[in-house]
Amino acid sequence: MDILDIKRQARLEKYYAEAPEEQIERIREIKNHFGDELMIVAHHYQKDEIVQFADAVGDSLKLAQIAATNKTAKKIIFCGVTFMAETADILTDNSQKVIFPDPTAGCSLADMANSFQITKAWKFLKNRYSSSDIIPITYVNSSAAIKSFVGKHNGVVVTSGNARNIIEWALTRGKYLFFLPDQNLGRNISIQLGVSQEALALWKPLSEELIENNPEKTRIILWDGYCSVHQQFTVRQIKNLRNLYPDIKIIVHPECTNEVVNASDEMGSTADIINYIHKSPVGSRIAVGTDNNLVIRLQRLFSDRKVMLLNPIACSCVLMNRIDLPHLALTMDNLIQRPEELNIVKVDNETSHFAKIALENMLKLS
Ligand code: SF4
Repeated sequence: MDILDIKRQARLEKYYAEAPEEQIERIREIKNHFGDELMIVAHHYQKDEIVQFADAVGDSLKLAQIAATNKTAKKIIFCGVTFMAETADILTDNSQKVIFPDPTAGCSLADMANSFQITKAWKFLKNRYSSSDIIPITYVNSSAAIKSFVGKHNGVVVTSGNARNIIEWALTRGKYLFFLPDQNLGRNISIQLGVSQEALALWKPLSEELIENNPEKTRIILWDGYCSVHQQFTVRQIKNLRNLYPDIKIIVHPECTNEVVNASDEMGSTADIINYIHKSPVGSRIAVGTDNNLVIRLQRLFSDRKVMLLNPIACSCVLMNRIDLPHLALTMDNLIQRPEELNIVKVDNETSHFAKIALENMLKLS
């Protein structure tokens, strides 16, 4: 913990003791004071107490792109998790500052792959296959360092929305695909594309082992990572709901396990989930397997449908939830009173350069 973190923690104690109404009023005032120069963006999984101030709500890539396009906004407050703020910094220009309200809001999935581990994995895979035969692909939910590694090796970033098209393209180009860090997304999309289980292998970064189902048939090497939020959905929860409501439809995010996806009616990105509910008939019952903050917002947005939580006792993403009203209020006050204490996200030039290549490769293919 550095000196700024210690100061921030000490100040936060005061903010947690304050009345939320005061903070809401202050945030509004400071936002008005800066006008178009300041932009607040919030990921779909943020709490309503944050979303109420957002100029844009969306997935991580969309928010980074909106921020990058809005050149008038010189200060971007990114309410999400670290890798998202990094992506925003990579895509915005040097005149824009990406400010992140809580430096401890990481992402457990992104943290499952680091530079040291990927370098070791790549060495292993290069010895086993020829490196020119392997296309590295990283989910956007990965650190800037991982995106950079992938960009340096002519790879590509994917989102849950475009993973299908890009993996389909990559299968026609590479003998082997190395997909990280979310094994569930990689597995679900590959199987949807007709890739057999036998062709899927799993790289275990902690034990540095490659687990192959059939070495002769390996095509896609998945990284042994997962999202702790989406991993908690189970087939049993789906069966229980189907017993209670035989007409229910179940839609889940592709970060869920393959067993859960198979037991569901649909799998889709956040945009697909919103679209699915939007298109469903009024009165229909739909259970959604993704972050509960988002599902609860969708219940209100589509109050004429019966939108349900697939797992009502699940926690929403605890890392996303680290950004709350006190953290935002402190950040807004710092803009005026203590700009030197703002947590500004800055990806170094080399990492940014190669990460941008991987992101641009994705944009060319989407
Ligand atoms: S929901 Fe999962 S992938 Fe998204 S930020 Fe939380 S831990 Fe990371």
